[in-house]
Amino acid sequence: MTEQIKILLNGAAGKMGRAMAAGILGEADMQLVGAVDRSCIGCDIGELSGGVAIGVKVSDDLAASVKRCGADVMLDFTTPEAVMRNIRTALSAGLPCVVGTTGLTAADLEEAEALALANDAPLFVAPNFALTAVLMMRFAAEAAKYFPHYEIIEIHNDRKMDAPSGTALYTAQMIGREREPFAQGALNSFETLPGCRGGDYQGARIHSVRLPGVVAIQEVLFGGPGQMLSIRQDSTNRDCFFPGVALALRRIRSLHGLVQGLEKLL
Ligand code: NAP
Repeated sequence: MTEQIKILLNGAAGKMGRAMAAGILGEADMQLVGAVDRSCIGCDIGELSGGVAIGVKVSDDLAASVKRCGADVMLDFTTPEAVMRNIRTALSAGLPCVVGTTGLTAADLEEAEALALANDAPLFVAPNFALTAVLMMRFAAEAAKYFPHYEIIEIHNDRKMDAPSGTALYTAQMIGREREPFAQGALNSFETLPGCRGGDYQGARIHSVRLPGVVAIQEVLFGGPGQMLSIRQDSTNRDCFFPGVALALRRIRSLHGLVQGLEKLL
């Protein structure tokens, strides 16, 4: 039997944490050795994820769990406020990290990359682990070469903390490599209700919708004389994220420093 990848799951009691725990527990080459969250302390992660007890209880102490559970990798799906602290704790202890939590700033990533290199512990970060989302971003970057006028509409559940979504920002950054910055829309336009034109990324506009009942939807709209192109991706449930997460967990030990984006592993 091949050696199992030992995983410490942070944010284990959250929506993504539970879905990822269920996925990990279904893989023969993976073992869930630790679970951390600030909710559901003492609950068994096997039961929390909808299965049977596996004897791994949720702890609220990441540093102690890193020391105790002998993990090969930390998987983080927590919150934008908590994620940098978690990354610092894991990387400082030499523990590689796969991070799906969004909201990391450029300064955060710079600090995290330095930590990853100094501790010889790789860090993989992806704003979206769904393959259709990766394709949507790639197709959007391609379309922007021919249609530089674009706007993004992203829709997420109403408990999401950060806006725009990590996926929307990452899409705008990818498009930014193909498009010169310019203000989208009429030059002298104005808002009678502040915020109506959305967030401004190099002159392109991003609109964040927050509604109950949604997992994740993003549409990138391109306009040209007499034509429009719409590239849309829907995540209808959280199962779509696990194959990408599993790929990152299997590949993390072969990476060096900071690697960003699932497309780098495909
Ligand atoms: P969620 O349901 O709110 O889960 C987050 C969990 O982290 C909660 O249980 C929360 O506890 C816990 N938490 C908060 N602070 C913590 C800390 N310091 N240490 C440990 N646990 C802590 O959110 P979610 O929907 O699972 O999403 C989690 C993150 O993943 C978000 O940033 C989201 O944008 C991102 N996401 C990424 C992808 C991707 O493909 N990369 C896909 C979906 C979501 P409390 O409930 O007590 O606050």
